[in-house]
Amino acid sequence: MNQSETLKIVIVGHVDHGKSTLIGRLFYDTGSIPQTRYDEIAATCKAQGREFEFAYLMDALEEERDQNITIDTASTFFHTAKRPYVIIDAPGHKQFLKNMITGASSADAAILLVDGAEGVREQTKRHAYVLSLLGIRQVVVTINKLDMVDYDRDVFRKVENEIRAFLHSVQIIPSHVIPVSARDGENMAQKLGNTPWYNGPTVLEALDTFENVHADTSLPLRFPVQDVYKWDGKRIYVGRVETGEIRVGDEVIFLPSGKITRVKTVEKWQQSDLVSAAAGESIGITTDDELFVERGEVVARRANAPVKTRELKASIFWLADRPFQAGKTYTLKLATTEVVATASVIEERLDSSTLEVIGRHAPELLASEVGNVVFSLKNDIAADLFSENIRLGRFVIEDGTLICGGGIVRSLAPEIGSSAQTIHLDEKFIVGDDGSLVDLTRERGEVDFYVTSAFLEYMEAGNRVLFRLRDPLQIEPVALMAFEHNLNFVFGRDRDKVNLILYKFGAEPHPVEFDCGGL
Ligand code: GDP
Repeated sequence: MNQSETLKIVIVGHVDHGKSTLIGRLFYDTGSIPQTRYDEIAATCKAQGREFEFAYLMDALEEERDQNITIDTASTFFHTAKRPYVIIDAPGHKQFLKNMITGASSADAAILLVDGAEGVREQTKRHAYVLSLLGIRQVVVTINKLDMVDYDRDVFRKVENEIRAFLHSVQIIPSHVIPVSARDGENMAQKLGNTPWYNGPTVLEALDTFENVHADTSLPLRFPVQDVYKWDGKRIYVGRVETGEIRVGDEVIFLPSGKITRVKTVEKWQQSDLVSAAAGESIGITTDDELFVERGEVVARRANAPVKTRELKASIFWLADRPFQAGKTYTLKLATTEVVATASVIEERLDSSTLEVIGRHAPELLASEVGNVVFSLKNDIAADLFSENIRLGRFVIEDGTLICGGGIVRSLAPEIGSSAQTIHLDEKFIVGDDGSLVDLTRERGEVDFYVTSAFLEYMEAGNRVLFRLRDPLQIEPVALMAFEHNLNFVFGRDRDKVNLILYKFGAEPHPVEFDCGGL
């Protein structure tokens, strides 16, 4: 059996609805707990005059794990005939929601548990919301403890309808809703005959229909820089390819800096002659140009780059006791970048268990509330919409050094309408007889530039480029771009407009070129 095919699952649901029992049962029924261990616990229960509980099996396993007594690693897994499974976080852990939100746990699938006798409760909804927030779409629902209601079909249907309705409101369609008794083992690994009215799969069969969520190579390239090493006279940008693929020779853009270059080498520990690397691989790259970029930059292709933004709209889930406040400064961590952020407005405040809007333009959010928030960022960052790329579309919120919440990006600045328009220089670049022109006269609003290596080579060769401006406000971004790339500029006049002529140091334009009518 291929261990890399292990499916990572989380088990969520309201306290006391039977999560530990269900886990113990899954382990026991799949033969993943040694019989001797089971017998020991059963004997202890008997001696203490208690009824045997499957949950004790899990407690015992956890205790051993916490004390670092090495238990067979396989026992943290259970197997079906198809593949191994691992339960990546124990429900009831204090860190559970935090781990889920921070991405410390990344699950392929989830089992959502509801007590059939009690119905859907607050935490059921909250956990379902978090599954939705994290983009976990492979969900099987178990309606548990049906032994307590004599496996009554109507009770099952009522709870099934209730949970389906809520899941629908958070855009989750469960693959199956299964009537079970974790205690008795009904419809867990096998059908024991108590639910003749149910024709669907057992829990294990349902899990076997799920797919591993592999690192996504089909999405556009996203390579967030974790670190920059200077080694052996070259700069190496290291990190993990989150999505897509990177190849030697690719033209790539670093964002938010906007620097463009080509990939010279792709390197891995003790492998220097790679030609490419794909999502999920940790690598280093060197580039044709030595770029002074920092951790937090994202390497992408220009055609489908992330958005450079200083403002984003997000849905956030708040965990901390201290309220989340509009106007207060927090740190957002998105991929490898960290940015100081302020919620300029909390547009909506929602109760995460009902998803009811409980306030608009609210001053704060309390623990376990959800907010639709607009963040202003102190610096530009590169980000994606969560719906387009989970890796760059989700972030953690810190107050000081404490993780206090998490969020997903719903919309980015260009949609909000306040960001500068980015001009791709080699798309705007017209080569004429007397020099070259970048015509900005039709570009309304703020502009900034993607500087390409072709442009820089052209300047380096001693050529001059006229930037024809729409208005004087465009002087600043052009001058700034010139400054960043070590270019000089002079003002020129073209009819009634101010223009700038860029050139490299030592290649002063001839005065006649100030009359740019020929272009
Ligand atoms: P958790 O808090 O969600 O992990 O819930 P537990 O697994 O600790 O279960 C809470 C209580 O419900 C325990 O007393 C279990 O024995 C009981 N329980 C769990 N599953 C079943 C079931 O299928 N039938 C019955 N009758 N009791 C159950």
